[in-house]
Amino acid sequence: MNTTAVKEILHEHQLRITAGRCDVIKLFLASSYALSAKDLENQLPQYDRVTLYRTLHTFIEKGILHLIPHDGGLAYFGLSGTIRQRLTNQKPPTAVHHSDHIHFTCTVCGRTECLPEHLVPKITLPKNYQIDEVALVVKGQCQACYK
Ligand SMILES: [Zn+2]
Ligand SMILES: [Zn+2]
Repeated sequence: MNTTAVKEILHEHQLRITAGRCDVIKLFLASSYALSAKDLENQLPQYDRVTLYRTLHTFIEKGILHLIPHDGGLAYFGLSGTIRQRLTNQKPPTAVHHSDHIHFTCTVCGRTECLPEHLVPKITLPKNYQIDEVALVVKGQCQACYK
């Protein structure tokens, strides 16, 4: 895991480097699925709830994470596509804006994931309507569950 790159990202977003912030980014990086605050609590028991919630909030504000629409009541979070690509040294992102990719929820295992390579198609609205945000969740079977 590239700790130096994680620290660089915190620094670029004018965030103080703390072990908690680094560990939250690393956890998201290690997970290919979206995570809820509860998942964070379970997987990072060394930090208290308040710290984790505050970290999530800060990361959303800074665009490091984005909120994923989910109808299960729980809020899910995903790492920004640009940041994931930087940390994994993948090719430059096709999805530049963090909220313009499709999200996928598997109806079998219940996991939600970001599909950063798959963009939300262009939405058109009647005249004098303005879009603030497009949140598109596709439901179906994920790779692992599809037989
Ligand atoms: Zn599945
Ligand atoms: Zn996403």
